[in-house]
Amino acid sequence: MSKIIITPLGTISPYPKGNRNCPGFLVEYNNKKILLDCGNGITRLLDLKKDLNNLIIIITHLHKDHFGDIGSIQYASYTYHNLGLLDNKVKIYLPKKDYLHNKKSIIKTKESYSEYYDIVNNSILLIDDLKITFHNNYSHSIETYMIKLENNNSKVVYTSDIGIINLEDRINFCNNSDLLICESSYLQKHITNNKSHLTAKDAAILANLSNSKELLLTHFWPEEDVFLYKKEAKEYFDYTSLAEECKKLVLK
Ligand SMILES: [Zn+2]
Repeated sequence: MSKIIITPLGTISPYPKGNRNCPGFLVEYNNKKILLDCGNGITRLLDLKKDLNNLIIIITHLHKDHFGDIGSIQYASYTYHNLGLLDNKVKIYLPKKDYLHNKKSIIKTKESYSEYYDIVNNSILLIDDLKITFHNNYSHSIETYMIKLENNNSKVVYTSDIGIINLEDRINFCNNSDLLICESSYLQKHITNNKSHLTAKDAAILANLSNSKELLLTHFWPEEDVFLYKKEAKEYFDYTSLAEECKKLVLK
């Protein structure tokens, strides 16, 4: 049975800092590569001479922290193709509706060897026997998709950016995940009226209510002590860890 291998490439937002980048997770399955989000700085952690071939990129929503490096990959694909080193176009999945012309600027880029697909809510993309489901979370501030990856052995959910509303629907989508990769933009001490992101506590409660086996927190504030997120979440869900650039996870 094939294993799902996930490598965090970016774990902070809204800007990269030090050796940490904006959101991105590389999924390897058989010889296929699927990049979940393409945040600022992640390109330096890809091995483009290998990873560009058969690469699928899924941009969960059109906020800059989730697609800031797409231009680097597009330009790399253009260069590799011109050198005769890339035969297959990079496939890029994007939300259907544009936001502040961000989608237009991506798909109109001429110096790129890529092709574009609209994400359709609740549609399934099959990569060998790996089922990838897109689900609009209807709780972030713009059209944003959660991604579920599952084969016969494992189920992984990447929430992308989610807010606190529409909880029941999110619980259903994340139900019985072996691994829940969940955003935790805030800690409880960050008093905010922003309802379109979660605290570490909210993420832990989602893991708990969805009966997930493990929680991997991500999307941290760059200036905050990352261990405080783990401490806060563990009060509500014990099997919590922190996403870390290049720290590979192998699902059984
Ligand atoms: Zn974000």
